[in-house]
Amino acid sequence: MPHAPIIARTLSSLHRARTELGKRNATVGLVPTMGALHDGHVSLVRLAKRRAKKVVVSIFVNPTQFAAHEDLGSYPRTWKEDIAKLAAEGVDLVWNPDAKTMYPEGFATRVAPEGPALAGLEDRFRPHFFGGVATVVAKLFTQVRPDMAFFGEKDFQQLKVVTRMARDLDLGVRIVGGAIIRERDGLAMASRNVYLSPEERRIAPVLFRTLKMTSKRLQAGDDFKIALADGVTAIKEAGFAEVDYLEARHAETLAPISTMDDGPVRLLVAAKLGTTRLIDNVKG
Ligand code: AMP
Repeated sequence: MPHAPIIARTLSSLHRARTELGKRNATVGLVPTMGALHDGHVSLVRLAKRRAKKVVVSIFVNPTQFAAHEDLGSYPRTWKEDIAKLAAEGVDLVWNPDAKTMYPEGFATRVAPEGPALAGLEDRFRPHFFGGVATVVAKLFTQVRPDMAFFGEKDFQQLKVVTRMARDLDLGVRIVGGAIIRERDGLAMASRNVYLSPEERRIAPVLFRTLKMTSKRLQAGDDFKIALADGVTAIKEAGFAEVDYLEARHAETLAPISTMDDGPVRLLVAAKLGTTRLIDNVKG
């Protein structure tokens, strides 16, 4: 049986535990999360266990990546279940700072990512988001000093932003992406899926089905504009309130593209089902 992970809530206890983990040159992998852990998070933990000798998971619901109208107060928190899952996976250390530890009185420095953070996807609808993510991830990296950090492709633009930042700021952390883990009906796992009513939950897999259908059409040579417009119609007709975007982008640069030859292609979508905003993406 694996041991329960060490839980650190202050910087001094984190540093003590980190020093212990790094003995005998053991490599350290970090999986940053906001808790409410599901199989998507667990798959990143398993990937980290395969790649690194020691695994640290951070659980921090980061206030600076939520806008005032967003769900910071009601974001699901399932601490006991989270720790049980991490213990079962043999995680070594959980870093669980509170907001005051992360952002002490007078905190006045932010990372302002550009490039993929200004691609016109999530940033168009959540302009506060990547600044908040980049700042907290940079802090997590300097706090935990991992050799590698693991991020899900579920948040595809975020993965690009963090990869760029680690390179640009010479953070010395190798960023590794993990595949999207889905429910049996195709819905991408997400902590926010618990907000969906039973009726919305039934509709939600339309997002993935539409991505797959659109991808097939693009591969068959259909016109990008028409296939994407049809996809938006299908999502709305299924009962989604709003489609923020359904776009074909270059899988590396996130630049807009309009033919398969401009690829590799990634199809990305964000849409609101009732008041819950869902995102997903697939290979084009
Ligand atoms: P979050 O707790 O939502 O901030 O997510 C923490 C990490 O888990 C991020 O790197 C996400 O991209 C990743 N993640 C979330 N959902 C999934 C999923 N369904 N499959 C794979 N990775 C995921």
